[in-house]
Amino acid sequence: MEVKSTMEDRVIGIDLGTTNSCVAIVDSGTPEVIPNRGGYKTTPSMVAITEAGKRLVGHIAKRQAITNAENTVYTAKRLIGRKWDSGPVKNARQTVSYEIVEGPHGDVRVQLRDQLYSVPEISAMILQEMKLVAEEYRPGEEISKAVITVPAYFNDSQRQATKDAGQIAGLDVIRIINEPTAAALAYGYGKEMERLIAVFDLGGGTFDISILEIGEGGVFKVMATAGDTFLGGEDFDARIIDWLVQGFQDQHDVDLREDRMALQRLKDAAEKAKCELSGVGEADINLPFIISVGRSNEALHLQRTLGRETLESLVSDLVDRCVDICRGTLTDAQLEASEVEEVVLVGGMTRMPMVQTAVAEFFGREPCKGVHPDEVVGIGAAIQGIALVDEQEDLILLDVTPHALGVMTFGKNFEELIGQNTTVPTSQTKIFTTSRDNQTAVKILVMQRESEDDVLLGEFILTGLRSAPKGQIEIEVAFSIDSDGIVSVSAKDLETGQEQSIQVTASSGLTSEEIDQMMEDAQEYLVDRRETDEFQAAQQRGETLIADVEKLFPEVEEIVASSDFGREAIGKAKGVLDKTRQAMESKDVEALKEHNEALSRTLRMFKGVVSRPH
Ligand code: AMP
Repeated sequence: MEVKSTMEDRVIGIDLGTTNSCVAIVDSGTPEVIPNRGGYKTTPSMVAITEAGKRLVGHIAKRQAITNAENTVYTAKRLIGRKWDSGPVKNARQTVSYEIVEGPHGDVRVQLRDQLYSVPEISAMILQEMKLVAEEYRPGEEISKAVITVPAYFNDSQRQATKDAGQIAGLDVIRIINEPTAAALAYGYGKEMERLIAVFDLGGGTFDISILEIGEGGVFKVMATAGDTFLGGEDFDARIIDWLVQGFQDQHDVDLREDRMALQRLKDAAEKAKCELSGVGEADINLPFIISVGRSNEALHLQRTLGRETLESLVSDLVDRCVDICRGTLTDAQLEASEVEEVVLVGGMTRMPMVQTAVAEFFGREPCKGVHPDEVVGIGAAIQGIALVDEQEDLILLDVTPHALGVMTFGKNFEELIGQNTTVPTSQTKIFTTSRDNQTAVKILVMQRESEDDVLLGEFILTGLRSAPKGQIEIEVAFSIDSDGIVSVSAKDLETGQEQSIQVTASSGLTSEEIDQMMEDAQEYLVDRRETDEFQAAQQRGETLIADVEKLFPEVEEIVASSDFGREAIGKAKGVLDKTRQAMESKDVEALKEHNEALSRTLRMFKGVVSRPH
């Protein structure tokens, strides 16, 4: 059988994480994570704009975060697809070091230097970087298709906004899949087995637990999924920060929270100590010159030692919350913990011994060791990607919807149409009747039930109903959820067949015009970036060539200066050196490449001269 996958079908899997992102690809049946330029397999999900207006993404953004805290965005994933007035955004406004402002659609924008960016735009910068990582690894191949992962608990707006981010980055997002499902795919890929597994994913910002059944013929069925989009490593860091701030307050009566730079340094030190404590029993936290106080600007230093036990007491309720969510999920799936045959750990936070112990105790078994917690999700996304474009791959993914969906009816009751943990894609209909005489229109409020709160996803109006007494007109409301977990709703007057529908997209916070504009900007950036990269490569080569030629110059001059021919050659070589330097100064990449070639010929000639016996 011919393999359908072609170069155009080259598809990458991207784990767009809160703290780190990872890109993977499947090559001849083998999934692999693609390292970035620095050789790292994950890239920090950070974006910064420098004073000179330059965009930095990944490690270089992270390295300058302390000195440019106000213009460095991290944990954008916590804001994506959220409304300005939502609890999580209010919370973030108080804790992050960059400025968050209200967008034109009640959405969230981030202020960096003198420009406002939407959250999908920031995420797009990270996705674009991951696309570049993949393209650099595969020179000459343009990669456009991607599967992107999201936490299972992401709601419709968050999924839609993530898809928008992909589009802005110039990616054709062929599927959005849930992170735990991706992890299960990576775990089960290529193994013939039937097994009930739990994926416990504690990352930088979110917690997810999923129970999946891996069946014969590559069928992955999600039985239940739950999580908390505000429970992750950052919360652990925050506890350490609180402890440090409180200790400093007690000692010096100074509130470090009032100084953004100090706070950023605390954040870094807290995370570092937390990670260290996964391996050792004690971590020293040393932050000299953390703040200056008083008229004389006296410098104060922070110096503490954090023990593993203290850390564990600071965060035990967070670990308990994870376990409680696991318990609830098993109950939903009508399963006992002992029925789970394997536990897969995902996310950097699962390296913490306390987390591992809690998981082992709850499930009554040691978690699986064979998968890399930082890489499984990206790998799973790449596996799903290849399965979507390659007919030879047998893989069936049966995911579920993490929230109940329904409509808000007249009496402000939530009428459920699709229950939580229903396998997607799915559709469901329900018939409603008018509530007033001669009612000419009905408003359909599309709701999602999220931990006891009803969140409005979108609304639309079915107009032009015939005159009739109340209760006489029957309206069929149909919900459908596609494989990306994105919701569409329609309402139909059953007698006239008149219909109205929406795909719930408005809530991502961006209009299609805005997305088009952002795509253009992203494309421009890419062109600039490629030009800069090309110039830098030529510049580096030129500098090396100049240094090599200059080194040999005195010796060559001495050997050949006695002949006219030799003097002419020396003169020409000087000319080539000058021209190369000029092209570097004027940043003329084409001229520079040309002079580099001439200079490399000169170098070969010089090497020939000095190696000859004379
Ligand atoms: P992820 O979102 O999966 O990249 O996970 C990132 C989170 O894992 C961050 O909060 C990190 O601080 C945390 N993390 C990474 N390595 C460790 C470690 N060795 N011990 C504890 N936490 C870690």
